[in-house]
Amino acid sequence: MTDLLIKGGSVYGPDGPLDADVHISDGVITRVESGGAATGATVIDARGMYVMPGAIDVHVHSRDPGFPEKEDFGTLTAAAAIGGVTTVLDMPNTVPAVDAAGVLEAKAALARPKARVDFGLWGLLRSSSSEDQLEALGAAGAVGFKAYLGYSFSTSRKQVLQLADADDPDIEPPPDYGTLARLAPALARLGLPLVIHAEDPAIVSAFSRPLETYSDLLEARPAEAESVAISAAAAVARECGVKLHVAHLSSAQGLRAAQDAMRAGTQLTLETCPQYLWLSDQDFERLGNSMKVFPPVRTAADRDALVEAAATGVIRIVATDHAPHTDEEKARPFALAPSGSPGVQQLYLSCLALASRLGDLSLAPRWVSEGPAALAGLQQTKGAIAPGFDADVVVVDPNQTTLIRPAMMRSRQRRGVFDGMDFRFGIREVFLRGRAVVRDGKVIGRPSGRMVRPER
Ligand SMILES: [Zn+2]
Repeated sequence: MTDLLIKGGSVYGPDGPLDADVHISDGVITRVESGGAATGATVIDARGMYVMPGAIDVHVHSRDPGFPEKEDFGTLTAAAAIGGVTTVLDMPNTVPAVDAAGVLEAKAALARPKARVDFGLWGLLRSSSSEDQLEALGAAGAVGFKAYLGYSFSTSRKQVLQLADADDPDIEPPPDYGTLARLAPALARLGLPLVIHAEDPAIVSAFSRPLETYSDLLEARPAEAESVAISAAAAVARECGVKLHVAHLSSAQGLRAAQDAMRAGTQLTLETCPQYLWLSDQDFERLGNSMKVFPPVRTAADRDALVEAAATGVIRIVATDHAPHTDEEKARPFALAPSGSPGVQQLYLSCLALASRLGDLSLAPRWVSEGPAALAGLQQTKGAIAPGFDADVVVVDPNQTTLIRPAMMRSRQRRGVFDGMDFRFGIREVFLRGRAVVRDGKVIGRPSGRMVRPER
């Protein structure tokens, strides 16, 4: 029995667009076909619309628990929902950091009543992590593990920090390639992905300098830091059969290192973000600190190489690294402003606009939905409009445009890198497991998100 029928749209299924009706029963897609009737069903008229799978943003920072003034699960998932993101995977550098099963369970319990979309949780891999801790995190439902190469850890505050004084007894050194090698057998056994923040700390230290201009930032965090981190981590991963995932790829040089590693047989997936696909260093003058992110947005040549790699399927995932701060923090002088900016709300729109420019709209659901589902181990239930999949569905209006402005942002940080941009699509309706969470562009209903865990 169909209880919801999305009728007459252009449906972006696994085999490309098709004029069809999507039948949904109990939150699951049951049929995708044209001309079927369904008595008693709620009917959504999608004529002239694109019907696409909900996005899975594999890289967000909820700041919850830890920094409620920056964001929490409520504001994060409202921003996600309105942008057509029906699942978010939250990074583990909340406070306390998610380095143990108990912390993950407590975070899930905190997130659930606020979550307007489904969510998964990454576990943290520290330099002191044990195989037992990783196994317990996996059993508790972690989607995988994140290693912040080059980031220290405060053991008293349970917090991931910028590279800090190694003589302080409270400070645990960053995980390094030795940590990865030591834990690689456990990671391979678990079969869960290892995500790296790929900036080699030795290179970042060697190029460290005062940050006065945007060029200082580019010189302080050079592309070599990315390519070296990718090559070294890949060498470890390849020997042990670890699934390696590179977060926020930012450079042509990092891309070349990743392609070399893939050719050598590493199980490697790549993620880049809208900011690296749309912007270059030339945009800093216009955007200011909104554009201060690590790794930095680099040159037009880097951007063009990443767009090409995304267009050809070398990069299969576009995620946001949604990392809000307060507008006050971001208004500090360049050197002192924290790195990171919000992005989850513009993920789908920016990818649709880019895919449209590249002449193949189906690239957008591949980048934000299909590729991410495979990384997260959710490929049986999410990431496609097909029978048996969760009815996470986005109705896109191709006749609407969306002008991005601070007043419409649902995140606590309202100024982002897409301020003033006019995207030539609108997100009209969003369904989470068959339930409307956005109607006519507005968030509706009570939070009904669930925690997702990888399928075995
Ligand atoms: Zn991040």
